[in-house]
Amino acid sequence: MVNSSKPVSFGEPEGVTEGDWFSSHAALYEHGLHRRPGRGISGSAEKGTDSIVLSGGYVDDVDEGDVILYTGEGKQEDNELVEDQSWDSPGNAGLVLTAALGKPVRVIEGLEIRGGRRKRVTGGYKYRGLYRVADFWTDIGRAGLRICRFELRKITSGEQIPRIPASPKVEGDTDLEAQARRYITRQALSRDSAVVRQVKDMYEGMCQICSTQIVVSPSGKTYSEAAHIQALGKPHEGPDELGNVLCLCPTCHVRFDRGVLQIQDDWSVLDTIQGEVVAVLRRDEGHAIRLTYVRQHRSRWSDRLSTERA
Ligand SMILES: [Zn+2]
Repeated sequence: MVNSSKPVSFGEPEGVTEGDWFSSHAALYEHGLHRRPGRGISGSAEKGTDSIVLSGGYVDDVDEGDVILYTGEGKQEDNELVEDQSWDSPGNAGLVLTAALGKPVRVIEGLEIRGGRRKRVTGGYKYRGLYRVADFWTDIGRAGLRICRFELRKITSGEQIPRIPASPKVEGDTDLEAQARRYITRQALSRDSAVVRQVKDMYEGMCQICSTQIVVSPSGKTYSEAAHIQALGKPHEGPDELGNVLCLCPTCHVRFDRGVLQIQDDWSVLDTIQGEVVAVLRRDEGHAIRLTYVRQHRSRWSDRLSTERA
């Protein structure tokens, strides 16, 4: 397998014709069809994505010939997605940029795909021609996890490729490329931090207040949210550290963020609307939650409490 990678290059390489057959990823690389050997997507957030290889790796892919519903890239084990896909992953971000630039994507198909959970291409590869990124959106795939969806459409000869804006549209932004880059940056910023992943793993997605565990996939993946006790950002400036983060279900998260649920110094959880203790906060041994943050959270809502009690 070739380890290097060639620069992004859109369109049909010289000497290659639609329908051509290639024996391996190395051959695709040699002919300039796919510059990231062994990977499904060849792309970067900075330059765009110039080619993809369909090799049966994603159960959510739909191939209707001229129209392909393509699943982006993400972490997989035995052909099953094990994490939400992310728009700032290089291949996915690259496809968003390719759409904004109005550039074509080379589509290559793996032939005679064999195997159960571990699929492999046994019959070589066929070059299917140039496609355009007609649309993209976030969906939930068969594994119960978030996938980045792309609608790819075969380009007919002489067709002008329309430039597709990133969604949601940025107000007053006319430069589609800048819009796409901003979209990708924002997605990167919204990813879970290491601390957030750590706290979710620690409780296996189980809510520290009500013990709800939301299982979202047959393989047992859970959905939970990380709540910062002293809120992040202005004006609260809470830190993104383990002692300031809770693993909560969406309902408790909203109620905690709005001050309905408040944690007392003895870790009991007070419902400030009902005026009664509804739970005791579950705390893992390795989770040193700081009372400073808990008190800061309470003090944020102290005015409202006294008004309601008056
Ligand atoms: Zn809960």
